[in-house]
Amino acid sequence: MDFSSICRFCMAKDGPMLDIFKDAAMILKAYALLPNLKLLDDGLPNHICKHCVHQLKAAYKFKTKCEHTDTILRRHLQKAQPVNTSSVIWWAELSPPATVKFRKAYISSQHSCR
Ligand SMILES: [Zn+2]
Repeated sequence: MDFSSICRFCMAKDGPMLDIFKDAAMILKAYALLPNLKLLDDGLPNHICKHCVHQLKAAYKFKTKCEHTDTILRRHLQKAQPVNTSSVIWWAELSPPATVKFRKAYISSQHSCR
């Protein structure tokens, strides 16, 4: 396998390729989206194809949009709700054979861990 001419992300062999390590913004987006992917100049292919560049940019844009929306919605929720010193925590318990029970608890802000 010729690592010098394939895409590191999809193994495409055709089409124009970019050197991923020459584009800092591209590397940062890849790290943000794929934290478990070890992107090092380690002998594996250094190239990314145009199709993967497009997908990486679109995924990063979607990620940042979702995070921005989440921030806005949480601000609105805080403004809409009266000040509450307790937090509600939900968790799920998986009980055999396949029953999921949802439980919640109110935790006072005065609760301290000892
Ligand atoms: Zn690719």
